[in-house]
Amino acid sequence: MTLDNPAIIDPIKLARLALTAVKVGLRLEKGQDLVITAPIAALPLVRLITEEAYKAGAGLVTTFYSDEAATLARYAHAPDESFDRASGWLYEGMAKAYAGNAARLAISGDNPMMLAAADPAKVARANRANSMAYKPALEKISNFDINWNIVSYPNPSWARQVFPDLPEDEAVHKLAEAIFAASRVDRDDPVAAWAEHNASLKTRSSWLNDKRFSALHFTGPGTDLTVGLADDHEWHGGASTANNGITCNPNIPTEEVFTTPHALRVEGTVCSTKPLSHQGTLIDDIQVRFEGGRIVDAKASRGEEVLLKVLDTDEGARRLGEVALVPHSSPISASGILFLNTLFDENASCHIALGQCYSKCFLNGASLSQDEITAKGGNSSLIHIDWMIGSDQVDIDGITADGSRVAVFRKGEWA
Ligand code: ZN
Ligand code: ZN
Repeated sequence: MTLDNPAIIDPIKLARLALTAVKVGLRLEKGQDLVITAPIAALPLVRLITEEAYKAGAGLVTTFYSDEAATLARYAHAPDESFDRASGWLYEGMAKAYAGNAARLAISGDNPMMLAAADPAKVARANRANSMAYKPALEKISNFDINWNIVSYPNPSWARQVFPDLPEDEAVHKLAEAIFAASRVDRDDPVAAWAEHNASLKTRSSWLNDKRFSALHFTGPGTDLTVGLADDHEWHGGASTANNGITCNPNIPTEEVFTTPHALRVEGTVCSTKPLSHQGTLIDDIQVRFEGGRIVDAKASRGEEVLLKVLDTDEGARRLGEVALVPHSSPISASGILFLNTLFDENASCHIALGQCYSKCFLNGASLSQDEITAKGGNSSLIHIDWMIGSDQVDIDGITADGSRVAVFRKGEWA
């Protein structure tokens, strides 16, 4: 099939997505270098983004491509001991680029089921080695030292998983249109549309920051969960300002407002409301119980073995690093599509994330040391995995320091 067929991927909307990535997602500054990572299938979008970046005055744009066939070749043929290794030299270089104020753009679009047939033990070892090697570069991103952005491209191998019953051309077209709508590039002026959207997310996060809740209480079918919020937590949503002073929109799309839970103050039970796609495995009907912030009991109707492996990654993997609020009526939820991609699916529903917290979700987060973040209840881990716990049957109360309750969500919508 020919992906440059305009009937499959609308070239006008694709060009708007490139413009939006540079002007809204990154707000690239004159002279700033840019590091891009992308699946090779996203080449048409990489070229458009590179062009927009140079037009915006980018210094040097450098792209690293990944290729599914090459990744699978490793799992099929690489020697066993290689699965405890990763390209640390590459990540050190990236960390160096970010330390020099290069911006970062990731294009997502890999086949979410790519590793479904690979040996799960090898996948887990490779992920662990990769997470450890990636840490110096990832820290610059998770600490929000630089402006960064992630957008998506409708890779055919991804589209086939989302719409398995459609011919490939149709599947790619449908996924492309869904990505364009969620990324607000189906409008003539996406930059203006994002300014409006950012303003409405700001209203929500400011309201929550004014309330200074000490905990959120989620109730719904199978869910009775109290999520204590970290001391001096701060809610964020939409555009936010990186430590290099640039205000960017890291996630495109985004519908969430989110903050840091207290790693030691989560109690009760919660069940997932949408399947979680994790490295080739669909984990469905997750049910966990927290005690003192730690998951002490976990099961799933499908993919339980993978879930349990994830929880054993490290001590922080059993604790929460994020809680996020998304109304059930969000456009991504309304599309009814399960994207099998966290960037989209997490924006369809309220969610929590296991693992690493965001230091920017604290008052003056940028100036806090790791020990100070830990003391305020911020969790640390090699993983950060979001899963969906919201639906039109979930209510959320905010609990203030004196124990009084305020309705935050009713039946999945802002109260
Ligand atoms: Zn989130
Ligand atoms: Zn997250």
